[in-house]
Amino acid sequence: MNVQIDDLLLKVEKPARYLGNEMNSAHKDLKDGMVRFAFAFPDTYEIGMSHLGMQILYHLLNEQEDIFCERVFSPNEDMESLLRENERSLFALETKAPLKVFDFIGFTLQYELSYTNILNILDMGEIPLLQKDRGEGDPFVILGGPCSYNPEPIADFADIIVLGEGEEVILEIVNLYKEMKKNKKWKRKGFLKEASKIEGVYIPSHFAVDYHMDGTVKEIRLIEEHMGSKFLKKRIIEDLDEAYYPDKILVPYIDTVHNRVVLEIFRGCIRGCRFCQAGMIYRPVRERSLEKLKRMAHDLLQNTGYEEISLASLSSGDYTEIEALINHLIEINQQDHIGVSLPSLRLDNFSKEMIEEIQKVRKTGLTFAPEAGTQRLRDVINKNITEKDLLTSAKEAFEMGYNNIKLYFMIGLPTETDEDILGIKDLVYKVLNQYHGIPKEKRAGGLKITVSTSTFVPKAFTPFQWEEQISLQEIHRRQTLLKESLAHRSINYNYHDGKTSIVEGAFARGDRRLSKVLHRAFRLGCKFDGWGDRFNFQKWMEAFHLEDLPLKFYNNRIRNYDEILPWEHFEIGVDKSYLIKENEKAKSEEVTADCRLNCSGCGVNQNFTTKRGVC
Ligand code: SF4
Repeated sequence: MNVQIDDLLLKVEKPARYLGNEMNSAHKDLKDGMVRFAFAFPDTYEIGMSHLGMQILYHLLNEQEDIFCERVFSPNEDMESLLRENERSLFALETKAPLKVFDFIGFTLQYELSYTNILNILDMGEIPLLQKDRGEGDPFVILGGPCSYNPEPIADFADIIVLGEGEEVILEIVNLYKEMKKNKKWKRKGFLKEASKIEGVYIPSHFAVDYHMDGTVKEIRLIEEHMGSKFLKKRIIEDLDEAYYPDKILVPYIDTVHNRVVLEIFRGCIRGCRFCQAGMIYRPVRERSLEKLKRMAHDLLQNTGYEEISLASLSSGDYTEIEALINHLIEINQQDHIGVSLPSLRLDNFSKEMIEEIQKVRKTGLTFAPEAGTQRLRDVINKNITEKDLLTSAKEAFEMGYNNIKLYFMIGLPTETDEDILGIKDLVYKVLNQYHGIPKEKRAGGLKITVSTSTFVPKAFTPFQWEEQISLQEIHRRQTLLKESLAHRSINYNYHDGKTSIVEGAFARGDRRLSKVLHRAFRLGCKFDGWGDRFNFQKWMEAFHLEDLPLKFYNNRIRNYDEILPWEHFEIGVDKSYLIKENEKAKSEEVTADCRLNCSGCGVNQNFTTKRGVC
């Protein structure tokens, strides 16, 4: 019986979040044997609808005749209270079916602070939170996405975890399930055993973790007959031109975070910044061809009516045919006033010509990410950009009439000193001087420089995975030091709350024991932890205390290279020896050239083959 919400829609804000009949949404007649897959984004509709992965997998699954994929988002507070008050289950948008009738609930793990929302969606969907409590007939809970490179803190809640890119493996899992349903061959356990054969599929319940007295991992061992290897190898799509990409995407009725077409131009990154997890886990670099992208852009703009297209990748300026692509998009879309945006433009491939082309249609603010205030620290993190790159790009931007620039930095990086913090101030004032160096009549008035700092969070599978995260007190001290030094009317300084970074840090490198802290925090009422006004630090500290697990053990501790890390049974193609070498080079402030200039031997080309890549 589907969930009734008509009477609730008039009582909630933005009822369009719950209608499920947007342009390009899927609607199918349910047939026997049809597999029902609920794709759940553990945050609000406005954020989830802008997630490219959701759009790709939603349309991929719905293009299969006997699979019906529907969407679920975290309901906003008003709808959640009404559903709970009226004892109504959480539902999928397209049919309003309660979650417990689905075969699969698939969650994307985009950030650690979304984990309590995952438990909340399961709880509101009347699905047992813990994997061990699910029985025949309960949906299988699948997790995937960037945080699945260390899923251990949430492993106890998952039946299946996908390591790597989902387009191919998701169909292999669902097709295996269809076979099971049709032939009534296996029960729940049997299916998980068979599924463990699929490369990239991790069945956490087949593994157990033992710990030393000091709390470090002693062993990650198999406890179930696991058909696959003890070491889980990530999945990648070798040829992106052959990879599935939707020719239409869902178009919401209400504003979302990104109201535009997203064109994914390549995966991976040639740069090797040592703090960046994405730069390591998405290797090797694989590009889509220019001809393929032209066709994709045409179809997506045609089938959505959007007036903006953004070129998505980790560093779009590094796409080998970026200028040809931008010129093409501007040329064929100028009469329709379609804007082109480049979210991830690096300082050292900021070209005046490119920006002039883009601003012909629409002028957007400019964002640069120097990340560190001194050249010494930029070398430690291997950012490979110079002060000259920043000042030249800023001057060119001001000469082009820009008066609104954002500068992103991180605080708490390994080896960071107060000199580096004050180096941020020096750099920002030099940018300011670039502006004042241009004659008044040649520059736009009302300069606004927004300086933003986030707190460095060491992540799995990066050269800094062994480094410590600075304490909350130290985060506050460094933010205050910078804030007091940046007192100027044209400069705004924003910084992330260190408390969220502390909890994020624990879960980024946590082990399976943190599942208990997560469960406890959820029961204490924690959810929407990614939202500053909803995050409750006290409750999180209480959860760590009640589960007797010291936060410091996870954050403020340097790991030895021979310590078994909670994610050590995963293989991403980049060798551990390479990460150690890069960590040592960081300590001696040595840089590593980008992959186009010189292969630095990360090993990924030994473990994967690709088309249109750098290696
Ligand atoms: S194998 Fe070499 S070129 Fe390829 S990603 Fe690794 S370092 Fe870069």
